[in-house]
Amino acid sequence: MGSRMATWADSAREGARVCHAHGGDPLVRRAACALAAGLSAMLGRSVGVEAARGLDPNALLLAPERAARSGAGAGQGGGAPPAPAAGAAALAGESSLGSAAPGAALPSDGFALTRRGGALMLSAASARGALHAAWDLLERLGARFALGQAPEFPRSDAARLEAVEPYSVAPAFARRAFASDIMTWHYGDAARLQTHLEHDREFVAWMAWRGLNAFFYIRHAQDTRLVIHEAAPILAEGGIAVECGGHVLPLLMPRERLETSPKYFPIDEHGRRNPRGNLCASNPAALELVAKRALGYLREHPEMAALHVWGADVHRGAWCRCTGCAALSPQLQYMKVANEIAEAFGRELGAAAPPVTYLAYHDTLEPDPVLRPQANVWFEWAPRERCYAHAIDDPGCDVNPRYFDSLRRYVDLFDGRGQIFEYYADAILFGGVGFATPSVIVRDLRAYHRMGLRSVSCLTFGAFSALAYPVNLETFARAARSLDLDGDAMAERTAGLRHPRCAGAMGQAYRAVARASAMALRHGEVLRPPADAAGAPARRARLLGAAAAMREAVAAAETAMRPEVGAERDLWKYSAEALEGAALWLEARTFGAPERRAAGERAIAKIDGAIRHLRDIDPRLRGSWGVYDLERIREIWLGTLRRRLEA
Ligand SMILES: [Zn+2]
Ligand SMILES: [Zn+2]
Repeated sequence: MGSRMATWADSAREGARVCHAHGGDPLVRRAACALAAGLSAMLGRSVGVEAARGLDPNALLLAPERAARSGAGAGQGGGAPPAPAAGAAALAGESSLGSAAPGAALPSDGFALTRRGGALMLSAASARGALHAAWDLLERLGARFALGQAPEFPRSDAARLEAVEPYSVAPAFARRAFASDIMTWHYGDAARLQTHLEHDREFVAWMAWRGLNAFFYIRHAQDTRLVIHEAAPILAEGGIAVECGGHVLPLLMPRERLETSPKYFPIDEHGRRNPRGNLCASNPAALELVAKRALGYLREHPEMAALHVWGADVHRGAWCRCTGCAALSPQLQYMKVANEIAEAFGRELGAAAPPVTYLAYHDTLEPDPVLRPQANVWFEWAPRERCYAHAIDDPGCDVNPRYFDSLRRYVDLFDGRGQIFEYYADAILFGGVGFATPSVIVRDLRAYHRMGLRSVSCLTFGAFSALAYPVNLETFARAARSLDLDGDAMAERTAGLRHPRCAGAMGQAYRAVARASAMALRHGEVLRPPADAAGAPARRARLLGAAAAMREAVAAAETAMRPEVGAERDLWKYSAEALEGAALWLEARTFGAPERRAAGERAIAKIDGAIRHLRDIDPRLRGSWGVYDLERIREIWLGTLRRRLEA
């Protein structure tokens, strides 16, 4: 190196480079290109990308031109072969050569920034970690990455780079995932599929910005696919692992076998073989067939990072009551099946076999104390009917302690091998109403982490969830990586990201939505309120309070005067009316027969009419779920409310 250390101020004249190891994982080169492009925009000068020898395969070295060049001179991009151990390697330091990789001590996807003379070294534990490190450094330098928007790189100066102190990032959770029902892609219709894929490009880019690392496609019995293969390159580019499965047990036992092998099917409470159930867990041939077909999924999709094996999506009755099964709880029958599949995976791939998950949900939410999972079986805990107004470990909540207790017992039985499946952006559970529960999310994730759990996921419904639950998505994504997050500040922070030119007004609006959420989210499905007479008056008052808070959000957004807030404002208008309708419905239930029918119909008409506000929203922002699925599902909600008027 020259007599004087090259600095970032020099790079004003001479430029700078991002170096990565020659060859290796394409994600690392993508990380180098992203970092170079972002820095070029922020520094207002060209930052090149260079493959160099001697660097750790997952490291990025960011150096002023003169520092990178002294002894360097490696080929640009795919041009000339790189020069032998060049200036880049000298900067990297000899300790990074050979086996002692700088990222070796970091946890999965972790990364660290250190200073090497005038250069900055980003070391990572994996190629994906290098990608996360690049985006994270750009954000620390002032870049803004908001879901659904192009990244913004405000002009900065070299002094800011000079001032970066060394740091390291160890993700709080090893698996940080989103999940979505595969049917909502409408893959049978090319135009609808394209619309969803456009959203996927934005969503996956944002996942990579936030350091998320897995996506789970939930399959239902009527689906003909396990994955959206059209989205595979999008996910690969973001370094996102693909997980498969969902309600696949009824598919693993082919329905046509009812004719030839009726004994493979479960016996229902009337003593009949149930064509819609899972299987008879006491029939060895049935178990073998299911495991063999699960193995078929794995062979067809070698990229599969996990197989989620869930039973039929029904409340009761999908398991067997034959003489062999009668003594076994649904949990134990299910455990036999999950173990059988995990053993088959282990025989096929040994220690490299992807995990198999056992869903703790509805009839399996309570663990059976004699469950004995195989080492490769993880429980997946899905507390859909919990209260979202309080954190999962809040002892003051009427609902959550029971759930939290079941989780504790599952953690013990599975020796800590558990995944959390959360519903922070579940547009069905939330009736399409906009909500924000950032403080609950941060406190939940801290509680899950304290129990030793390191795997979290959140259900989403594509573009609609991005529109209706932006604060929750932002909070979940950030808290999954770092629990050192102020949930109370996430309303303002998300407003600043999404709406920088009217952050004050929108921060106030998101706070009002959060107040509405704390009132409306105590009872499971928002548009299916429990009608027990004792709790109804308080529930009705809370729904009206929530509707009033939604109107405050609408009013705050009115002052924003920016066209891009219009969609959210329309969504909150829908939200206020739907919540008022639900409150009116609860009131109607208290009336005598003739009056009840008329008042109930008025309440239902209010919820029905509220949809006009959603239909005003640009279909691209509503997404395929908001445009198609919601229209179908709301008929079910309205029909149920109508039926329950009489009950
Ligand atoms: Zn049976
Ligand atoms: Zn509660």
